[in-house]
Amino acid sequence: MLKAVGLDLHQAQPVDPPVFDDLSIAGPVVKQAFLKTLQGIVGADDATIDPMERVVHTYGKSLRDLVRMRANAVERYVDVVVYPDDEQQVQAIVDAAVAENAVIIPFGGGSNIAGSLEPRSEEKRTVISLDLGRLNKVVSIDETSGLARIQAGVLGPDMEEQLGAQGWTLGHFPDSFTHSTLGGWVATRSSGMQSDKYGDIADIARGLRVVRPSTDGRSGALVIRGIPSASNGPSVREMILGSEGRLGVITEVTVQVHRIPAKRDVYAYFFPNWRAGVEAMQEVAESDAHPSITRVSDARESGFSLATSKERHGFDKFAADTVLPFLMRRKGWKNLEDICLSFIGYEGEESYAKRQRKLVEAIIKKHGGLGVGTGPGVLYDQKKFDTPYLRDFLLDRGAAGDVSESAMPWSQVIPLYDAVVAAAEKAFDEIGIQGWIMAHLSHSYHSGACLYFTFAFVFGDDPIGEYDTVKRAIQQAFVDNGGSISHHHGVGVEHSPWLEQDISPEGVAVMRGLFEATDPAGTFNPRKIVPDVAPAAAAPARRRATTAAAKTGAKTGAKAAEKKAPDTKAAEKKSTTRRTAAARS
Ligand SMILES: Cc1cc2nc3c(=O)[nH]c(=O)nc-3n(C[C@H](O)[C@H](O)[C@H](O)COP(=O)(O)OP(=O)(O)OC[C@H]3O[C@@H](n4cnc5c(N)ncnc54)[C@H](O)[C@@H]3O)c2cc1C
Repeated sequence: MLKAVGLDLHQAQPVDPPVFDDLSIAGPVVKQAFLKTLQGIVGADDATIDPMERVVHTYGKSLRDLVRMRANAVERYVDVVVYPDDEQQVQAIVDAAVAENAVIIPFGGGSNIAGSLEPRSEEKRTVISLDLGRLNKVVSIDETSGLARIQAGVLGPDMEEQLGAQGWTLGHFPDSFTHSTLGGWVATRSSGMQSDKYGDIADIARGLRVVRPSTDGRSGALVIRGIPSASNGPSVREMILGSEGRLGVITEVTVQVHRIPAKRDVYAYFFPNWRAGVEAMQEVAESDAHPSITRVSDARESGFSLATSKERHGFDKFAADTVLPFLMRRKGWKNLEDICLSFIGYEGEESYAKRQRKLVEAIIKKHGGLGVGTGPGVLYDQKKFDTPYLRDFLLDRGAAGDVSESAMPWSQVIPLYDAVVAAAEKAFDEIGIQGWIMAHLSHSYHSGACLYFTFAFVFGDDPIGEYDTVKRAIQQAFVDNGGSISHHHGVGVEHSPWLEQDISPEGVAVMRGLFEATDPAGTFNPRKIVPDVAPAAAAPARRRATTAAAKTGAKTGAKAAEKKAPDTKAAEKKSTTRRTAAARS
């Protein structure tokens, strides 16, 4: 891939990581009295205007976010960061914010890549980032029903540790698992790699507690009980799912949990080409088999995965370099460059997992696939949470790497794939850069699947402009070819220009009506999902970041306009460790 985008690692000089003190951070927009009110609710250390806290809580982790942060091109930082300890404190913060006409942006792990956290650049009101990090407990498990009540701010590993101690698992493992929270997953309609078995978070989350403003002394808690299915009108549960903070603050989720499976294996297979792999995945989805993971990479991504595998020695090396190509040729696969790598996961009781594998392997054989055992699957399991961070490595060397994903019916998988690759390549040509695009199919359903594209290019003179050209081409190809604007990354401000084309103008009008009627003052994360005004065309008018600075990191020389407030240093020490580690990763 690096060769394909013209990046020579021997020559590319890594830029230094951005320097915090070089950022220009305007002072917080907050009245002393209001800050004191917030501190009165959560304690003096846990309502802070500390600059580091404000920086960490302003953006997510999209490429645009990282480039702007490196370029010192952040237009509006959040003003106050609060860390409530329980739902009562969340209610008190919400009510105080409404009284003050302030803005609340709920913050989970800050890992979204759709621009779901950033405040409106022209926002004049106080912007509060409400970090749910302290609401991190598994409250109770109803073992009879397989339902657990879990606080929304818990990070993935912390939650699995608490569930695992009692023999349970959620089975939800997004690639960002280590840095994202249950509330964030619900608020963005996330999907994990084992969704084929456990479902997307939209299936897993059965009940919710959401804090909204109190009225006439009545608590503002919206409560959806954990019930398997209900006929009680349009689903309010579904309205909260994917609401990105616009309908209130999720404090607790009742989720389906499962006994930790006795057996969990990921097997690897090769297919002679992409079409054979896709057709096999479709047949598996339509069959009686229930694997936990179905994933097949196109030829480019397969080559990339094999090239980034750990070094092999001894028999492993002999098998990979000699035996495998021999077997592939014997199967008549003339062009080894076309081969596609697939991972299928099997989970459950030993005999169940074995039976699933038998069913799937009969289908794989029918489509010309070749099993290569669990070796590559073990490696996939080991590096699945690390691979996405190659993006930061690329950024340090003046190159962009990003992802876009879409869900579509089976009939559109190959046409959409071809259209997106063609659109991205046309965009690369248009801006005169060498680019790279690769994809995999994952998250299979009865009627379709998700295609996940990764693209990369070396920045020219206008990083954000070039990124917009490529990203726009890909998103437009999604909607033009029967796909959704996103399968699991949400809308934020990054994908909202295409929302009308996805769900129709009337669909957007209904959504806008919902947000405006339930939040007339625009307290909760305004402008996310549905833009304030309907977009004229699917062309995001985004401000371009300082170009040279974006290429070289935050080397603008601008000094922080404000230094750390002395009274917030203790808070920084206590509460930034986890967030800043996530932000740096
Ligand atoms: C490297 C990488 C890999 C990724 N892989 C995946 C993947 O495999 N699958 C996937 O689904 N996503 C993936 N993502 C995207 C991201 O992790 C998800 O969107 C995730 O669900 C965001 O959770 P979070 O806790 O970080 O939320 P945040 O980023 O903090 O917030 C996201 C949105 O949700 C709102 N929100 C957060 N918590 C609450 C709450 N308690 N109440 C109300 N609103 C709230 C915020 O206001 C914001 O609008 C990936 C991201 C990265 C950087």
